[in-house]
Amino acid sequence: MTTDLNFEATYLELHDMFYDRGSIYPVDNPTLALFNDTLATSIGLDATSLKRDIDLLAGNRQTETSFSQAYAGHQFGHFTMLGDGRALMLGEHVTPDGTRVDVQLKGSGPTAYSRGGDGRAALGPMIREFIISEAMHALGIPTNRALAVVQTGEAIMRQGPKHGAILTRIASSHLRVGTFQYATAFGSIDDVTALADYAIGRHDSDLTDAPDRYERFLGRVVERQAKLIANWQLVGFIHGVMNTDNMFISGEGLDYGPCAFMDTYHPETVFSSIDREGRYAYANQPYIGSWNLARLAETLLPLLGETKEDAVDVANRQLTRYTELYKEAYFTGLAHKIGIDVRKDGDDALTDELLRLMMETESDYTNTFRSLTLGEIESLPFAKRDDGKAWIDAWRKRLSDQGPDKDVRQFMRQHNPAVIPRNHHVEKAIQAAERGDFGPTEALLMILRDPYNYDKPSEYVSAGPPRTYPYQTFCGT
Ligand code: AMP
Ligand code: MG
Repeated sequence: MTTDLNFEATYLELHDMFYDRGSIYPVDNPTLALFNDTLATSIGLDATSLKRDIDLLAGNRQTETSFSQAYAGHQFGHFTMLGDGRALMLGEHVTPDGTRVDVQLKGSGPTAYSRGGDGRAALGPMIREFIISEAMHALGIPTNRALAVVQTGEAIMRQGPKHGAILTRIASSHLRVGTFQYATAFGSIDDVTALADYAIGRHDSDLTDAPDRYERFLGRVVERQAKLIANWQLVGFIHGVMNTDNMFISGEGLDYGPCAFMDTYHPETVFSSIDREGRYAYANQPYIGSWNLARLAETLLPLLGETKEDAVDVANRQLTRYTELYKEAYFTGLAHKIGIDVRKDGDDALTDELLRLMMETESDYTNTFRSLTLGEIESLPFAKRDDGKAWIDAWRKRLSDQGPDKDVRQFMRQHNPAVIPRNHHVEKAIQAAERGDFGPTEALLMILRDPYNYDKPSEYVSAGPPRTYPYQTFCGT
């Protein structure tokens, strides 16, 4: 059988402290639950034959290129040794256009890094990862992708028995901030250098021969993270566990466990049941991005200068760019959301005031911008307040010099999704999947894959029944 998978494993050229070759833990009765035909085709795979190769997607077939990765990380601020406790890389697939992507199974069984965990994953959380990563991709936000979900046919124990499942995910690499932290904590400077060179080769190969490549590499990661997090903020996405092991060097998002899109706008919104102190609350995400990048910069210090002082100066030069880059991306994006093409003085005050009104009136984040886009001003919760009317007047005045209304509306449609993965739809899809019905998941995916289309059924637009606070999602399952 040919699936056109073209596996290599350049990662194994690193010191063997970076991986474990592991073994497979076959499951008896795997069945295909979800498959991403479009993604398969886009990376040069024959979807039909891959779907039939259930043993590969279930982790029943060892590839010569398989391994699990070692990494460490700050989890909620505490440094720990981690690693792929339930993930197995099948290999690096080289697409027909020469792009190298990692193909990884999640939930495929224990590894050297399982730390007592069972190495397995439950169906519900894998469905969530599939839905959220597809939604992200369609929104134009860098993310790892989900290729397939397989049900293992085995029960796993969580809070009660759950269906076991394995997710196949595709990423431009699985190198994390935590991979560098691992190299620094447990390896030598040579190991850190080898890892940095490897990362540059995978993601910033134009820098390979540059004398200041490590500084510029840090700068690139800073740029990618500033943009990623600004993008998350602009769609109201709360990741939930922005630990350093969950931050890719590539700037793609990953590990959509206890995450959710915010409905009612409030900067302090937290979704994760384990985030009791609100470390990863919506408004904190940009700061956490900066904190995580500082942890990356620390690992690179020996490569950044002859003396510690020089190295710290170089690191700071790149780290301080983050705030400016983030603000530029975020405030420009916000201006776009209200129809302003070229941001100028006073515009940030206008968007700030809108957010204040939204918070005070408990407005839905996505639907506020949707209503503005559609010109449905009366439906805005703050439309009848004096300060709300003043804002609407100021906004209209600001847009009046921007050309015909219909062009502005068209522009706004490109910057404001009509639909996002609403928590109640995601939950319903997961519940149906747990009963063996993947119809609701497929239907939801179809909607989410076309998020800027304003002609979709209204049931996907509603924020859902008034929620009981806090909406919580759970990770580690
Ligand atoms: P996550 O919260 O998914 O980013 O996972 C954090 C760490 O816990 C990673 O090192 C995972 O590999 C590990 N982990 C999570 N669930 C399991 C499990 N069921 N078995 C073994 N390791 C796990
Ligand atoms: Mg993780």
